[in-house]
Amino acid sequence: MEKLLVCSCAVNDPYTISSAYLLENELDTVKAGIKKYAGMLGASEIIYFLPEGSKDFGLENVAYGQASPVMDNPYAIVQQLKGNLPRPMIQDDYVAEYEGKEVAVITPEVAYNLAASQKTAFITVTKGGSSEIKAVPFGTKLNEVEDAAGAKAVLLGGLRGKFILPASLADYAAGDDILSSSITVFGPEACMVVVTADLMTKTWMNSCNKCVLCRDGTFQVKTIMDDMPVGKSKAGDIDLLKDIAPLIKIGAYCPYGQNWPNTLLSALELFAGEFDAHTKKKSCPAGVCFQAGATYIILPDKCTGCGDCVDACDYTAIEGKKKFIHMIDQDMCEHCGECVSSCEEEAIVKWEGGKLPKLPKKLTKVGKF
Ligand code: SF4
Ligand code: SF4
Ligand code: SF4
Repeated sequence: MEKLLVCSCAVNDPYTISSAYLLENELDTVKAGIKKYAGMLGASEIIYFLPEGSKDFGLENVAYGQASPVMDNPYAIVQQLKGNLPRPMIQDDYVAEYEGKEVAVITPEVAYNLAASQKTAFITVTKGGSSEIKAVPFGTKLNEVEDAAGAKAVLLGGLRGKFILPASLADYAAGDDILSSSITVFGPEACMVVVTADLMTKTWMNSCNKCVLCRDGTFQVKTIMDDMPVGKSKAGDIDLLKDIAPLIKIGAYCPYGQNWPNTLLSALELFAGEFDAHTKKKSCPAGVCFQAGATYIILPDKCTGCGDCVDACDYTAIEGKKKFIHMIDQDMCEHCGECVSSCEEEAIVKWEGGKLPKLPKKLTKVGKF
């Protein structure tokens, strides 16, 4: 059977930007690696699969679709090429077929290393809200990539990784594994319960929903975690999380479902004191949650009416429409702070005290207040 090689640039999770970086900065080497692999396979056609909304990087034969952690699976690729949702097929003897051709997959990261003279890891390092790629030879200790001095926690490998303490970075080395794909640093001010709740929301959103353990498990975990920063958690919630996460690891169908519970379990283990404080005492050691006096507001002179914040609020407390100054309904706001980072204009702020600035009382067009 003829072979079709798909370069999947849609596998990166929300913590990783290496595929886009390689297409932007190392395209010739990536193309050389793809050509080499196509030659090894005897592939007669190459397709680049890019996430929706991404630019085409001047590539030919491009397909667009949903980014997903399962998009390194040939069956998931075929599903998307056919216009279906990405769903993996894990079976040794399974051959993914598209238009009469057997489908093989390569990522830009693997392609680069097939062609380059030195094996290089392109690690996404996120710190203080901004991300950059650090390119280092395989084998480089991760504390030489980012020492995370003074930080509280580090998430290695994003959705499929695990939390570690900064001092443990030296125990890990750069390679082609998921753990060294990204290093996300959380400073001493971070509440690890809020951080974990946000991670579990992203985990749920990235489940492909094929198998019940991952589909229902991500939703159940997200629901439990959402309650914690707002004081709604119940006795036994932490034990429940500790019970279900290992079951999902064992029973989930594909590597995504088998790995994401590690982030939750590592957070529960490393930051047990913070989780206990939130569930048993309804207090937040980092001083982020349960700030009854804190008020979240949208500064009318900064809001551009883009609407990005609306989906960040699980309590539907943000009201607005395109090109109108958005407003927070203080009766509905649960003071979780999730919306703050969704606003690139830094228009959403936590007002700690003092006289509030003048705020619109009704929806007002941007520039008219
Ligand atoms: S484990 Fe999750 S991502 Fe993998 S097939 Fe099941 S639902 Fe999909
Ligand atoms: S508050 Fe920020 S994110 Fe929300 S609409 Fe205004 S500018 Fe956009
Ligand atoms: S702080 Fe922001 S995200 Fe949280 S409930 Fe209030 S408006 Fe919604």
